[in-house]
Amino acid sequence: MQCPDCSSTDISKNGRQRGKQNYLCKACRRQFIETYDPPSGYSEAFKQECLKLYLNGMGFRAIERAKGVHHTTAITWVKQTGQLLPDAYEPDVTPEVGELDELETFVGSKKTKSGSGQW
Ligand SMILES: [Zn+2]
Repeated sequence: MQCPDCSSTDISKNGRQRGKQNYLCKACRRQFIETYDPPSGYSEAFKQECLKLYLNGMGFRAIERAKGVHHTTAITWVKQTGQLLPDAYEPDVTPEVGELDELETFVGSKKTKSGSGQW
C-alpha cells in the first residue's frame, strides 16, 4: 500500500467508507481509498485476449468463465487500457464487414423460413 500522492508507505487505516477501506497517509495526511490492483502474474498477450473478448461484446462474467480470470481483474484491465486508449474502447464497436454479411444472410434465411412456415 502506497500513498498515491507522495508514494509514502507510512499508511494507517482510517475507517471504512461505502464498504471500502479508507487510508490515511501519515506523511502528507492525504486520505484515499483502497484501489484494486490486479494480479501481475498475467502476460500482456493474455490481457489483450481478454480485452478483445470485452470489445467483442462479451460480459465480464463471461470472460471470467471463458478465460479463468477474475472479473474484477478484467474490469481493471479495461479501465486501465481505456484510460490509455479512449478511442479504441467506445461501446459501439463497428462490426467487421464479414460479420455484417453473415448477419444479412442470417436475417434473409430467417425470413424465408418464417414465410414458408405460414400455412
Ligand atoms: Zn502521502
